[in-house]
Amino acid sequence: MVRRMVRASHVVAYQDGGHRHLRDGAVVWEGGTIVHVGPAGSYDGTADEVIDAGTGVVTPGLINTHAHLYESPLDKSFVEDKGSRQFGLSGLFEYLPARSAASDDEASRACIAFSMAELLRTGTTTVMEIGSFGDDVVAQAERFGVRAYVAQGYRSGRWYTDDGKTVKYAWDEAAGEEGLRKAVAFVEANEGRANGRIRGFLSPAQVDTCTEDLLRRSKDAARALGVPLALHASQSVPEFWEMTRRHGRTPIEWLGDIGFLGPEVILGHAIILGGGTWANYHGDDIGLLADTGTNVAHAVWVFARRGIAMESFSRYRARGVNMTLATDTAPQSMIETLRWAAVLSKVVDRQTEATTATDVFDAATLGGAKALGRDDLGRLAPGAKADLLVWAGESLTMTPLRDPIRNLVYSAQGEDLATVVIDGEVVMRDRVIPGVDVARLAHDLQAAAERMWPRIPNGDWAGRTVDELSPQSYPPFAG
Ligand SMILES: [Zn+2]
Repeated sequence: MVRRMVRASHVVAYQDGGHRHLRDGAVVWEGGTIVHVGPAGSYDGTADEVIDAGTGVVTPGLINTHAHLYESPLDKSFVEDKGSRQFGLSGLFEYLPARSAASDDEASRACIAFSMAELLRTGTTTVMEIGSFGDDVVAQAERFGVRAYVAQGYRSGRWYTDDGKTVKYAWDEAAGEEGLRKAVAFVEANEGRANGRIRGFLSPAQVDTCTEDLLRRSKDAARALGVPLALHASQSVPEFWEMTRRHGRTPIEWLGDIGFLGPEVILGHAIILGGGTWANYHGDDIGLLADTGTNVAHAVWVFARRGIAMESFSRYRARGVNMTLATDTAPQSMIETLRWAAVLSKVVDRQTEATTATDVFDAATLGGAKALGRDDLGRLAPGAKADLLVWAGESLTMTPLRDPIRNLVYSAQGEDLATVVIDGEVVMRDRVIPGVDVARLAHDLQAAAERMWPRIPNGDWAGRTVDELSPQSYPPFAG
């Protein structure tokens, strides 16, 4: 079995239940498993390869618990700066349906390949994908060496608007049941591929588009398969009011009532809550999440860019909710996610010390691992998977360096990430992903977007063009 070692001035090593700052450390792994973590001189064995990271920083890889790789890159240049005020600033009811209807299968495949490169360049080593192109995601995850949990999403109905004022629902219960059946078959077909790097999970799509029966069956199926269970919930103001209209309960309360919540459940995004100001509806949804051990996938940017903030990351943590971090939309950068999660919590709490670099780094590593039921991910310790990141220690953004976690959270850029190791394999070295032409990936994505933008009117309830729905930042130059 191949044995490799990395040495660096700073190692974020795991000890006694938490991360520790190890000065001048070494990490050694055999095959896909870490066998030694300690001071640089503490290992007296040999290694087939030694990566000398010099003044650099070695950290665990980041766990990205909520992504839609097959479509998120197409958000760029279209959905930013736009949110429907009548739908609580959300883009879910006008922008995303128009984009989805205008896309095509080739575009989805271009998005998936592009996303894999983007994830590796920005620190994601484990990603949870919710979508409808599972086979393609599995194939690209195998090709790029990414650790991936993949779910084929399904639902009993869909939302739509036909007047731009109200959200309506079209139901097809049989499609939901068929979707669950296919999603289970997908898990069974892919679980454990690529030396265990590929795993499955179940994801009924959204709390307001799945019937109680479908959610109960999903819960039972996830338990039988022993896989995580993900659901979008409390993600928009219209969804919140739809659930209270149907049941007289908040979305989270209703999920509690039907026995859905629990430690294997990861809710994206749990932001519009009973007890929060977005719905101004009293209750204690945060307490319910904590009491049931339910995990939250916090994708801070997709909300922050529209002016919506969790209230607040530090309050969820203080109540004992297991918080994880996710990119969800574009840019699919966990570096950006760390930064926004910390800073926005400080702003909401009006307190500098509310959410620290420690808090968000823990969420992106140990929090994600806990949500997945994995004590061998998100940490550098003997017995853990060799998923690790090697960062520059001396650069325009990382210097001066005293506290590597603060520098990563508040200053690092993707260019500071030099080398990525997943399951013991070097999948990116000196910022190069072997065998991958990044310019080609960008070219294919641009072509996909240029096919999509003219078709936007087909998916918009009012038939608006891309420029009507989302005017360019500046008017065209005349002449
Ligand atoms: Zn999502």
